[in-house]
Amino acid sequence: MNRREFIAKFITASGVLLTGMDAVAEEVAAGGVVIERPQPGTPHSGKVLAAIQPHSDDIPLYAGGTVAKLIREGYTGYLIRVTNDDMGDQLGLGERGSIGQNVLRNERDNEEVARALGLKRVFDLNYSNHRMSGISQPELQERFIFLFRLLKVDTVVCYDPWSHYEENPDHYVTAHCVEAACWMAGREHDYPEHFAAGMEPHSVREKYYHGRDLTTLSINRVVDITHTFESKIEANRANKGKGPAGHHGSQLRAELAARKLRLPFLGDDDLTADREYIREFVLKRDREVGRKYGLDYAEEFHHIEESPSPLDEYLKQHAVPLI
Ligand SMILES: [Zn+2]
Repeated sequence: MNRREFIAKFITASGVLLTGMDAVAEEVAAGGVVIERPQPGTPHSGKVLAAIQPHSDDIPLYAGGTVAKLIREGYTGYLIRVTNDDMGDQLGLGERGSIGQNVLRNERDNEEVARALGLKRVFDLNYSNHRMSGISQPELQERFIFLFRLLKVDTVVCYDPWSHYEENPDHYVTAHCVEAACWMAGREHDYPEHFAAGMEPHSVREKYYHGRDLTTLSINRVVDITHTFESKIEANRANKGKGPAGHHGSQLRAELAARKLRLPFLGDDDLTADREYIREFVLKRDREVGRKYGLDYAEEFHHIEESPSPLDEYLKQHAVPLI
């Protein structure tokens, strides 16, 4: 189904005729899922985004297209990496790293991820990889609260704390601490020493929660990442020390060549092989999600946006000057 057919079906199903579809930023598809589309200009100028990941490959794999889109549309963004990635991954072709080598490789890769996505600065919180179920959660919550207040974060992108069958404790512990910190950062009695240092209460009002298993994520938002998909490929290519992307494509190309074989789509050089491998295999899910909604590439989220209070809305509409 192409996009036009999808829109036509949406109009028919909802009974609502929308005009100028190419200009709208959001559409509501069947089931109430909001489709967030690219917006012209920089409508998010002045707003601050925190992309939060336990490991260097989480945001690139599951939310890199959305982060790049929001930055392109005006957000100032920061990348917060919670662990030091010291467990790493086997790199293939005999390049197995030591624990110390993993830390350095992934630290460097993470800086490249931030650059590829247009994020301004990295904060590394340096917890041990795979060990987060034993950390002090109030300590991590306070570190997030400090950063949310310091940076005046409006929006976070992170793992969903409530999706099921997540086997990695670093993922769910990080997500739960982020969720708690988002509202506690706005409270005036939590960590008063922050205020003595010049900061003010500041709650996070918007969240994009992603998950590894989309069947257990309560999806209410789909982001069209077609226009930032190449940046997402670059962010994944940056993760050479761990994860499924990096230079697996060029490794595969070399292995096949040793067997007198080749895959034509991997091209004739390492860069092309790495990029096309990521496009074809690592980010296959984005293509499949996009197809469901008539888009080329898309990411799915549970999205939460805090509305203004009914009283604030009422005052805006009805309050008049005293005189
Ligand atoms: Zn991870």
